[in-house]
Amino acid sequence: MRAAVLEEFGKPLKIWNDWKDPEIGPSDAIVKILANGICRSDWHLWQGDWEWMGFKPPLPFVIGHESAGIVEEVGKNVTRFKKGDRVVFPFNQACGKCEMCAEGHQHVCSNMALSMFMGAGGFGEYSPVANADVNLVALPESISFVQGAALGCRFMTAFHGVTAQGEVKPGEWVAVWGCGGVGLAAVDVASAMGANVIAVTRSQEKLDMARKLGAVATVQAGEDAVEQIQELTKGGVHVSLECLGTAATWMPAIMSLRTRGRLVRIGMSGKEEAGMLTLPADLLTAREFEIRGSMGMQARCYPEMLRMIDSGRIRPQDLVTEQVPMEEASRVLEAMSSYDTIGYSVIVAK
Ligand SMILES: [Zn+2]
Ligand SMILES: [Zn+2]
Repeated sequence: MRAAVLEEFGKPLKIWNDWKDPEIGPSDAIVKILANGICRSDWHLWQGDWEWMGFKPPLPFVIGHESAGIVEEVGKNVTRFKKGDRVVFPFNQACGKCEMCAEGHQHVCSNMALSMFMGAGGFGEYSPVANADVNLVALPESISFVQGAALGCRFMTAFHGVTAQGEVKPGEWVAVWGCGGVGLAAVDVASAMGANVIAVTRSQEKLDMARKLGAVATVQAGEDAVEQIQELTKGGVHVSLECLGTAATWMPAIMSLRTRGRLVRIGMSGKEEAGMLTLPADLLTAREFEIRGSMGMQARCYPEMLRMIDSGRIRPQDLVTEQVPMEEASRVLEAMSSYDTIGYSVIVAK
């Protein structure tokens, strides 16, 4: 199959016409990828980051994990899907059998398969999906493949972070730190849930987009951001959504909380932090702050999100700023190095 192949970290991807087709097990499916979002995690992998988590792929490799498409083939044990079905799937693919899966938390499955590490990601023509009955989600006709692309990672990650982990309630103050793909989606979802959203990021263009998506206030990231938020909210936010993941946003996101506030960490750190950040530990005690993680979303929770998209209450399509062929994926990754992209760039099949 054709694929944009990562041959060397940080270097332009190469188009191969003969990348090996994905293999299929009896419970798996192969999906023909029609749209695939280019996510910050792809950029991290392209950079060769995340070695500290054991996530450095063997080269050459095909990345991509925000895919929407059509089922091409299913294994003999798959009963819920067939060739030709329109589908999306979460990047974190569950086994369906472990303790976490049995409890319904398939997104933190103990035997998780990450689509970005299965050797044939969405930067190619076909991708494998493990345990298809557990991990595939039917994409309604009313939602296009391009709209569906970011539902594999950034948009659904924001949905889970706001709803399940953040437990955002109407009228609460919510600060969204970092307005990249996850952050802007979080602004959209939290606003739809009735929260008063404050978007915080460096770029004025991204703040303007956050306004359009429903933020009631915006704050330019910088030294006085915490002070501005404390003033705006008269005592801090109920929920801080940390969508960037680096040291630059971590401490301000905590310090902008009101007493008993909750911080949801969605972003991932880069090479500099290698996953290690400091904590104002005594404040956690004194002010009863809560810190929660948020990791993708399980397939069984997609219907709520799809209904909100179908009715227009949340709008992933408003975040898609660019549709590109596979050949241009490299250019997008390069632009992401300086945080110059806005919203979602989506690779579309010719
Ligand atoms: Zn499992
Ligand atoms: Zn992602």
